[in-house]
Amino acid sequence: MGRYTGSVCRLCRREKMKLFLKGARCYTPKCAIERREYVPGMHGQGRQKLSDYGVQLREKQKVKRIYGILERQFKFYFKNASRSKGVTGTALLVTLERRLDNVLFRMGLAASRSEARQIVRHGHVNVNQGQVNIPSYQVSAGDVVQVSGSDKMKERYKALLELTKDNKTIDWLEVDANRFSANVKKLPERSNIQMPIQEQLIVELYSK
Ligand code: SF4
Repeated sequence: MGRYTGSVCRLCRREKMKLFLKGARCYTPKCAIERREYVPGMHGQGRQKLSDYGVQLREKQKVKRIYGILERQFKFYFKNASRSKGVTGTALLVTLERRLDNVLFRMGLAASRSEARQIVRHGHVNVNQGQVNIPSYQVSAGDVVQVSGSDKMKERYKALLELTKDNKTIDWLEVDANRFSANVKKLPERSNIQMPIQEQLIVELYSK
């Protein structure tokens, strides 16, 4: 599977906002957005007026980058969302939230979604007591997700859990910090996604 190997801070700068792709560094003054809040490249500091298409395209790119999804898979998610009964944009975001790598990130066991993906790929995650090493696995209500690892990894999980223990936006997950596990109480809702996303723009883009 292809993956982006360039600078992730460049992606944030391109979207002119923090996408929180680099873990702890994102919360420090070293964050590239804090230091250079302009689009990368030769004309980055010039005035930029986007067309309607440009605005829609940027919104799609932003969401892809937040969740670390490549174009082909993102289109696949959109196609499925447009076939679902609910509102397409909401269904798309809920599908992205249900990814196993995102669940780990939301549980607070990984500093970024890319770190979460690595934990899943390395076989440290069980869903309902069976090992799952597919980051795109969709969790369902009632699933129990548990993470294992070396003593060193457990120390890291503990430190990360401490940082996110007051996060109220994950009420769909019941996290057990002692067992590094979470019970998926219900499916996530639109209100659980706090990043400024205008999913309607993505629907408009793909509906052209
Ligand atoms: Fe984005 Fe984090 Fe880099 Fe800041 S440090 S630009 S939030 S990836």
